[in-house]
Amino acid sequence: METGSVFPQPGTQQPPGNRAGETREDDDGGGKGTVEDDATSGNPYAGLVSRLRAAWLSGKTRPLEYRVAQLEALGRFLDEKKQDILEATALDMSKPPFEAEYTEILLSKNELHETLNNLPHWMKDEHVDRNLVTRLDSAFIRKDPYGVVLIIASWNYPIHLFLVPLIGAIAAGNCVVVKPSEMTKNTEKLIAEALPSYVDKDCFAVVTAGVQETTRLLENKFDFIFFTGNPSVGRIIMTAAAKHLTPVTLELGGKNPCYVSDHCDVQNVARRVAWGRFFNAGQTCIAPDYLLCSLEMQEKLLPALREAITEFYGPNPRESPDFGRIVGDKHFQRVQALLRSGRVAIGGQTDEKERYIAPTVLVDLQPSDLIMQEEIFGPILSIVTVANMDEAIDFINSRERPLVVYAFSSDDKVVNQVLERTSSGGFCGNDTLMHVTLTSLPFGGIGNSGLGKYHGKFTFDTFTHHRGCLHRGMGREALNTLRYPPYSQQKLGIVRAACEPPDLFSSANVATR
Ligand code: NAD
Repeated sequence: METGSVFPQPGTQQPPGNRAGETREDDDGGGKGTVEDDATSGNPYAGLVSRLRAAWLSGKTRPLEYRVAQLEALGRFLDEKKQDILEATALDMSKPPFEAEYTEILLSKNELHETLNNLPHWMKDEHVDRNLVTRLDSAFIRKDPYGVVLIIASWNYPIHLFLVPLIGAIAAGNCVVVKPSEMTKNTEKLIAEALPSYVDKDCFAVVTAGVQETTRLLENKFDFIFFTGNPSVGRIIMTAAAKHLTPVTLELGGKNPCYVSDHCDVQNVARRVAWGRFFNAGQTCIAPDYLLCSLEMQEKLLPALREAITEFYGPNPRESPDFGRIVGDKHFQRVQALLRSGRVAIGGQTDEKERYIAPTVLVDLQPSDLIMQEEIFGPILSIVTVANMDEAIDFINSRERPLVVYAFSSDDKVVNQVLERTSSGGFCGNDTLMHVTLTSLPFGGIGNSGLGKYHGKFTFDTFTHHRGCLHRGMGREALNTLRYPPYSQQKLGIVRAACEPPDLFSSANVATR
């Protein structure tokens, strides 16, 4: 694997393999003047993409043994660099070691184990039903890699968010360019310096890049782009991908609503909500963003939330080793400004030097308040009061579709109603965040919260082109003459009969079903 440090920054010396007039691997039509040509000539990353494409075309990444060896190397990276990961994420955002080990290492390892245990099965051709005409042939779905894929990651879980897609991309047989977030500098450096010594540098590269360089990187033609970040950047990525008709997965964010009914165990709700909201100092895409509950429930929840916060982080969360910090100054100022909405019921203390914002609960909010307009992505929980569940559902449905909807109630019917009558990327009843721990569940957004899904087999499928294949025998030509000109009514009659679907509801079929 190569790192971005190997490559010159845009506007400086060009890497080999992309000098003017040279035919690149990614040229459509043998280097003719195409849109791609114009876009990538002089592009500082064109040589890298071109080299990875040549490696992919060589077929090197396709054998099961190769994929397994690369995946096992990712496992060694996680084991041997565990301490460095904990230190880098602590330096970047004071990530508590427990939270770092759980999310960056253990959840990534779950994905790795799931993939290694199932890869031979996932890779196999899938044989499918045939019709009368193809009964003697072979019809199957080939699990083809896309080719050269780009993974652009966010900073809030800086290892997990590049590694989990990378596991699926390697498992599916692709070559990969990984672009970690530049926000978490220590982790970015660790990835760029350490990862290349674990995996094959002919096929996998780390590019360290800010917005300007990523813009140049995106001018190149990739065969698939997997992006994690905010919805406005998601639009930029999709626009860049559209130029090459490159398919994308967009793992985006938004505001996740959490309905709390009047019938529930208030202490348990408070603990589960506080954990999900204040984990990683609130910088989690699936954190509950705001609660929807009755005024009576709000009055019961406030003391319970205060108690949960003290139980978790002590009387002064600033001194707790288990409470993180905001990632950077810009984000700190953005989150701090959100504190001006409504009324602070719990917390509200800040310290700019440390980028500390106390676990905070805001009440008396109006839908028009700034905090109700944008994703909080910080340790603030807002509460919006509603008259009942119907009003909560209307509130949710009147906004962009979220990454996750949460619902708490001792009555399963209430939880099921919220599930049935709303739309979101995922759903979790009576807890927060925990749905993400299951590799058996697809993870992803819908509408403004994203496009596509991953985790477990869904990651493998995301990075796989499902190629529909029919392999016919060379003989039996007499059968084929039925579809060849000159056409006749008699031939059409036979073709019609061959195409006719079985009547599933005929008495004979119903009896045997
Ligand atoms: P971001 O969109 O600012 O950055 C994400 C990546 O995109 C970074 O690698 C960054 O370098 C790159 N980038 C930023 N601006 C770019 C541009 N103009 N052109 C090209 N590349 C650009 O997001 P962020 O601040 O890193 O992350 C926060 C957002 O990500 C939140 O909205 C959060 O909800 C979302 N998120 C979603 C998930 C998920 O799985 N759905 C996970 C984590 C974070």
